[in-house]
Amino acid sequence: MTQNREMITDLVQRVMEELSGQDATSGAEGFLPTPDGMYETVDHAVACAADAQKKLVAMTLEQREEIIAAIRKACLENNEELAALAVRDTGYGRYEDKIRENILCALKTPGTEDLTTCAKSGDAGLTLVEPGPVGVIGALTPITNPTGTLINNTIGMVAAGNAVVFNPHPSARATSAKMVSVLHGAIVDAGGPPAVITAIAEPTLARANEIIAHPGINMLVATGGKPVVKAVLSSGKKAVGAGAGNPPALVDETADIKNAAECIVSGASINNNIFCICEKEVVVVEEVAEELLGFMADTKRAYILNREEAVRITDLVIKDGKVNPAYIGKDVQKILGEIGVIVPDECRLAVFRAEKDHPLVWKEQMMPVMPVVTVKDVDEAISFAVSVEQGNRHTAIMHSTNVENLTRFARAVETTIFVKNAPCYAGIGLGGEGHTSFTIAGPTGEGLTSARTFTRQRRCVLSKSLRVI
Ligand code: NAD
Repeated sequence: MTQNREMITDLVQRVMEELSGQDATSGAEGFLPTPDGMYETVDHAVACAADAQKKLVAMTLEQREEIIAAIRKACLENNEELAALAVRDTGYGRYEDKIRENILCALKTPGTEDLTTCAKSGDAGLTLVEPGPVGVIGALTPITNPTGTLINNTIGMVAAGNAVVFNPHPSARATSAKMVSVLHGAIVDAGGPPAVITAIAEPTLARANEIIAHPGINMLVATGGKPVVKAVLSSGKKAVGAGAGNPPALVDETADIKNAAECIVSGASINNNIFCICEKEVVVVEEVAEELLGFMADTKRAYILNREEAVRITDLVIKDGKVNPAYIGKDVQKILGEIGVIVPDECRLAVFRAEKDHPLVWKEQMMPVMPVVTVKDVDEAISFAVSVEQGNRHTAIMHSTNVENLTRFARAVETTIFVKNAPCYAGIGLGGEGHTSFTIAGPTGEGLTSARTFTRQRRCVLSKSLRVI
């Protein structure tokens, strides 16, 4: 496959040279863009991306917005194929939820309208502060959302006038290659330069580190676990780190318990719990715990495990103290089937009562098996939920009608996303107000990233003119 790609690249290069009657490689340090956006080496991708970025910023903003519109359209047109491939390739998530993920990213990722200029005028003249592009961005993307993250990052980064070199997760290689070909094709068909987005064909950790260290990469964006965030933050470059979470859902005695149950089941089961924002454990005040579990069972989308089943499921999904990767992102039918529990097709989540020290309370399980911990009152609930969030500052959810309790928990937990009386995904714009992001930068503080995140502030000063006030 590698050989074929090199042959095609070579062939395209020679045809271009013949057509133009000159050395077609001269535009990008001796490299020519590939026809599909996939690159064998980091040097090749960076050189072509740098060249494309210059051409992109030379275009008008209107043309850039046309490119974004073409990207949105292509993602929607290819949605079914991309969603099916993502589930097949990674083994994570559910087809119908991947469809929702792609629609959300295609339609609710802001474009150039996210970029705003500030102006200051006075006796000394006019000063503009504009969000300029950073140049070439190295983006490391996760296995959990190979389509959503690529769509979301591409729209935001390109809207801000950048080119991108993606190093997708190695275990999402096929999906990422297809996704890149859709995005790349849309950009080129809309009149954009090739290589505005590029990706490494055989992504590895070594390639990720090459991107991190490459002098031609101006900014790094890591979406993944703690190690990759640490790696980009140690690079000495401008870096955005979107790391792991362990979102608690807190339910107090004032909540609309039926609504809380429905929201938690929907949020914790979307895409088999692989979203970083998904409810990973419930902390509920004892007096409403039984009612909450009852309403969860009533949804028919949650199965409540008994004590003995809960022990067996824990032994299955926790191996040597760690989350067993064999069950990450899998359907609840498959996981429960392993312990001989058969649930109907409509079931999406397994729930069980757990002690505070249960491993699934503390680990980011990313599977539709969720512990429910009971506490005596809201004070204990807040302090315990803050502990299990573990300072990730990622996402927390609370069901309550007491504004003071909601405010106390929001202040104490300090998460980037705080959702009240809704499923977790309202926090990323699915059924909630606001734009979406699949790169939620808690550790570095940019929050739900968008085009403006991928810019550098540039001040432009005009002395003693253009002042009318
Ligand atoms: P991961 O950290 O294993 O991989 C993410 C990317 O980083 C991949 O491209 C991988 O190749 C690369 N990578 C991993 N370790 C690296 C290192 N030491 N040096 C350089 N590159 C490295 O994550 P994953 O398993 O693909 O995704 C799941 C994790 O990502 C979960 O913890 C989830 O919470 C988190 N996540 C966070 C967000 C967010 O917006 N905050 C979004 C999606 C996923």
